[in-house]
Amino acid sequence: MAKTEVRIGSARYPLHSVNTLVIGSGAAALNAALVLHDLGERRILIVTERLGSGTSHDAGSDKQTYYKAAVAGSAPDSPLEMARDLFAGGSMHGDIALCEALGSLPAFFRLTALGIPFPRDRYGAYAGYQTDHDHRQRATSAGPLTSRLMVEAFAREVRRRRIPILERHQVVGLIPRDENGTRRVVGAVALDLRATGRKSRGLVLFNAVNVILGSGGPAGIYQDSVYPESQSGSHGLAFEIGAPGCNLTESQFGIASVKFRWNLSGTYQQVIPRYFSTDRRGRDEKEFLAEGFPDFAKLARAVFLKGYQWPFDPRKIADHGSSNVDLLVHRETVLLGRRVFLDFRRNPEGAGPKATFDFDRLDPEARDYLARSGALLPTPVERLRKMNPPAIELFLSHGIDLEREPLEIRVCAQHNNGGLAANIWWESEIARLFPVGEVNGSHGVYRPGGSALNSGQVGSARAARFIARNNASAPPSPAVFASWAETRVAEIRDRAERMLAGGKKRGLDPEKALREIRRRMTAAGAQVRDLLTIDRTRGEAWSLYRRSLASLSVSSADKLPAAFRALDHALTAAMYLEAIREYLKQGGRSRGSYLVLDPEGGHNVPALGPNAAFSPAGPDDFPSRRILQVRLDDSGRPETRWTDIRPIPETDLWFENVWSEFRAGGADR
Ligand SMILES: Cc1cc2nc3c(=O)[nH]c(=O)nc-3n(C[C@H](O)[C@H](O)[C@H](O)COP(=O)(O)OP(=O)(O)OC[C@H]3O[C@@H](n4cnc5c(N)ncnc54)[C@H](O)[C@@H]3O)c2cc1C
Repeated sequence: MAKTEVRIGSARYPLHSVNTLVIGSGAAALNAALVLHDLGERRILIVTERLGSGTSHDAGSDKQTYYKAAVAGSAPDSPLEMARDLFAGGSMHGDIALCEALGSLPAFFRLTALGIPFPRDRYGAYAGYQTDHDHRQRATSAGPLTSRLMVEAFAREVRRRRIPILERHQVVGLIPRDENGTRRVVGAVALDLRATGRKSRGLVLFNAVNVILGSGGPAGIYQDSVYPESQSGSHGLAFEIGAPGCNLTESQFGIASVKFRWNLSGTYQQVIPRYFSTDRRGRDEKEFLAEGFPDFAKLARAVFLKGYQWPFDPRKIADHGSSNVDLLVHRETVLLGRRVFLDFRRNPEGAGPKATFDFDRLDPEARDYLARSGALLPTPVERLRKMNPPAIELFLSHGIDLEREPLEIRVCAQHNNGGLAANIWWESEIARLFPVGEVNGSHGVYRPGGSALNSGQVGSARAARFIARNNASAPPSPAVFASWAETRVAEIRDRAERMLAGGKKRGLDPEKALREIRRRMTAAGAQVRDLLTIDRTRGEAWSLYRRSLASLSVSSADKLPAAFRALDHALTAAMYLEAIREYLKQGGRSRGSYLVLDPEGGHNVPALGPNAAFSPAGPDDFPSRRILQVRLDDSGRPETRWTDIRPIPETDLWFENVWSEFRAGGADR
């Protein structure tokens, strides 16, 4: 990596020239850097807000799952079977599913070689279990913090190999270049978060042949979120230069605690805690679930099932299914503005004559489960202590004592299956820009639990391999780069100066803008959607983006990072709402982890009111047979397009033919 300075306009900026710039330090970004290094590339620079930030490092769950091909015992599996299962999730390209399946075991064994403690027996069998949307026992876990263990191992290795990392830098713009009708990325601009007070506003430039974007999920656009606080996301960087997003409609939502962000799945629900709501000041306590279920037995069954039916799923509404719990929490929090709590100190009560808690009134599945766990105990917290004591200790370590206090919850955004569109080498339509990890929208509608981490590992390794084999050239000279980057850098510099000058005239406050974005996304672009509301909120979102471009303002230079973040998120949220509107306009119905309200729908949703109805998406619906993309056109207007779903390719696996193509380099392009 070469560090110089470059003059653009009247200012001088630090300039890093590299073959590959890696943005972010989550599991995907760090893996990309390491694989590139394995393949001999040394001109790498990792730039990140902070090593130890992001979802991989800071999120986890009861048993954080890593999905891979089955390798133990007599479990039958094959790459094609796995690809078919990924593909069956809907709106996922078959060639990408095949790559994710074929790359699964190499990626997994890289992790075991790095020392990630995935459980195995004395003969070396990595036993698996079944996760959601999986029937092959492909899932494994290294405990509640699997992805953190991955990041820590990668970070150790990155340091050991002395791959340079620039921390405390926030990338605020990518630099595109149009040549012969193709747009490619040639670098990036970041804010050095410790230097925004300087004359240069802390701007740092990167001259790169390739940019790997591992900036994670769009956590910062939601008010109700179980993404860690350290994750915000930066999709706007890519949208701004015309990179298309795909499947932006498809995110996962579920019940989580908000004071300390944690998914409340597994035993937290299986012990059947009491749900109650209050007004904003904690008064007017109400056991609102009783209003949504005819009796205690059905209520308790739905709560119990929520344990292993965690994400909201419209297919689990009928027959008093577990998703009614999410909808009733949504009604209390989003529609009625109340607060909702899980109380482990007392048993729930239902409606009707047999309303009180009684083990004999429990659904046989729930009762049997508790009995076999030796947990037919008087209160939810006693049952939790018996079945999963670490679940109590985890909250205690974050200052929340489930024995003494209720836990505030909401229905929260957890993961985006969509993201930036890319090909089988994880390269965007903007050439040499490689979105890897959650920012890449490779998943379809339903994904097996744990496949996000698999996809992040496979995709980042494939991007690195492609770069090492095809784009290994040196970056251009600083003078050439300066001539390419001049206009873009001036634009970003000008933005920073306007934000600062605007502070004196009281323009748009970034924190206020972020609050507006988040409120809007949680109310209209999350688990419950309808066309009328989306029509309105999409307009509001674009208007906020335009206002953000014109009038975001800060009172001091140390607030510039927040202003750039607000601008990024204003664009990201507008693109997401644009996608949702297009989906609904084309007749898109309920699927994945969201409900589309439709007065003509054949299924009632009493949880949301007497007239609320929906219908589930069908396999022959127009949107089910395609993938929706959204991008900004050259004049900055959103453009939607429906692309055909590519099937799983039929490959010729005759060894001699594969060998001959391999020798000709065909395996890496
Ligand atoms: C509660 C929870 C539970 C989950 N459980 C599972 C599970 O069991 N199995 C599974 O497969 N998946 C799970 N997921 C999803 C999975 O953890 C994430 O998809 C994955 O960790 C994302 O990794 P990543 O490397 O793409 O991004 P992250 O780990 O989020 O890293 C993003 C990085 O980019 C940096 N960054 C962002 N923008 C910028 C910028 N502009 N400039 C510089 N740096 C930037 C961030 O600081 C961070 O370092 C879960 C997610 C959550 C929230």
